[in-house]
Parts: sequence; C-alpha cells; structure tokens
Amino acid sequence: MTADLTINNLHVTVEGQEILKGLNLEMNKGEVHAIMGPNGSGKSTLANTLMGHPAYHVTEGEVWFKGQNILTLAPDARSRLGLFLAFQYPSTIPGVSVSNFLRTALNARYQQPGPADSGNGQGEGKGLSMRDFRDMLKSRMAMLKMDPGFARRYLNDGFSGGEKKRVEILQMAMLQPEIAILDETDSGLDIDALRIVSEGVNQLMSPNLGVLVITHYQRILDYIKPNRVHILLNGRIVLSSGPELALELEERGYDWVKEQFGQSALGPGTAA
Ligand code: ADP
Ligand code: MG
Repeated sequence: MTADLTINNLHVTVEGQEILKGLNLEMNKGEVHAIMGPNGSGKSTLANTLMGHPAYHVTEGEVWFKGQNILTLAPDARSRLGLFLAFQYPSTIPGVSVSNFLRTALNARYQQPGPADSGNGQGEGKGLSMRDFRDMLKSRMAMLKMDPGFARRYLNDGFSGGEKKRVEILQMAMLQPEIAILDETDSGLDIDALRIVSEGVNQLMSPNLGVLVITHYQRILDYIKPNRVHILLNGRIVLSSGPELALELEERGYDWVKEQFGQSALGPGTAA
C-alpha cells in the first residue's frame, strides 16, 4: 500500500448485477489520473461506490486511503477524510441557496469530529466564521468567473448544465479535498465553460490534491493534463498508460480496445 489511494480488486453489484469486476487502481496526491471508457462501462459506478452511495454493493475488494479501508466508512466520514465527488448529474435542492448549501457542507466537513478525529473543536476542527466563509466564497467564485449573485440562488434550481457543473467545482474549491473525483464534469459544458472550469481545477492542484477525471471524451484532458490515463471496460481497468492514450482513443474510438480486451475483460476461463 504505497500509493495514497489504492483500489484493490473491487467488485460492485448494482440491483443484483455485477458492474465492477475486480478493478485495481493506484493514484497519488499531486497527480491527475483520467479514467476513460465507453458508456455503461462502470465509470459512475466506481465514482458512486468510492463515495459510499447505498445503491452500490461492494461484494469484494478494498479501497485504502490514509491507512483505512474507506469502504467501511459512511459517506460523511469519507468526505471528512478528504474525498470529494463532483456528480455527473448534480441534484436540485429548491429552498436552499448555493451559499447556505456550501456553508453547511463546509461545517460538516470541518466541524464534526469524526470517530478517528482527536480534535476537540480547536484549530482546524472549528468551522469558519461567517466573514471568513464569505471572503472565501467570494474569491473562489471569482476564480471560477461566477457572478456573485449566483450564491443567493437556490441550488441547481433552473441552472443550466454548465452552471451546475460550475457549482460542483465551486464546492470542490470550498471543501479542499485531498482526492477529488470529477464524473463527466465536461458533459454539458460549452467550450468556454469547459475552459473556465478546467482552469479552476488547475488552480486548485497542489501536492496535497489528487484528481481523478472520469470522462468519455478526450477534450477535457486538453485542459486538465493527466499523468496517467486508464481505460475502463466491462468493469475493469484493461489498459493504463501516459496522456498519449487519451489522444489515441480520440482518434481511434473504443472499438479497438473492445476487440483487444473485450474477451480478457470477461475474466479468465470465459474465452470462447
Ligand atoms: P458509465 O458511467 O461508465 O456510463 P455506469 O457506471 O453509469 O456507466 O453504468 C454501468 C452499468 O450499471 C449500466 O449498465 C447501468 O445501467 C448500471 N447502473 C449504474 N447505476 C445504476 C443504478 N443506480 N441502478 C441501476 N443500474 C445502474
Ligand atoms: Mg457515467
């Protein structure tokens, strides 16, 4: 277990069907990894499983982060530990403003001591003052080129696809996770919004942040440069390589991957 995040032989079923079939992945903070794969290959299943979504049942495997198998932790404990997911389909919460939502999320992340937290409400364990929160929100919104009035609107209520994705990244900027998973953050973004959102992510990059970019298309990787690119097919990582792999997928599509790895992805002993 040398990598900061280690996914080991992960098997996940959804509604009784096995979707992830022994997925392995290692990544470190300070790195950007991309997971690319055809639709239905299990990309969102991986993201949702990492965050502890109750519909996804882990039948085998471990996910190690900070010396713990996080699969034993509740979603809020995973968030406090420093994991974050930007959803492919962010939900709408009418009646709760963006600002209130973010303040609640921040307090939940930093105020409540977790079971493994020795803090007693001092230092980092204490939530931000209202003034500090407002200052931070203002600067992060400016970074993402968001209109300040946006903070008062109800969360995702009537937001365009691009606005929803921007709020997801704003949430990431506020929560300051150590591992951030971006599930198709590029989908629904026009080219300007994609550039702004990507620049926001790039500004957040630090030796203390690892980003897992999940995407079907290569174009977001023009802006958020990956160190490693992994191909997910039939519930397994079938190929890992450098950034040039994304360009190859863009050029050649996924058919060659299916041809080359389709059988092996079904597992040993299943080849015709
Ligand atoms: P991707 O994100 O790579 O397009 P998903 O992980 O969303 O793929 O889906 C993989 C498979 O799992 C699909 O066949 C999908 O229908 C199924 N699946 C994923 N989530 C659910 C769910 N919540 N309920 C039922 N089926 C699901
Ligand atoms: Mg998906």
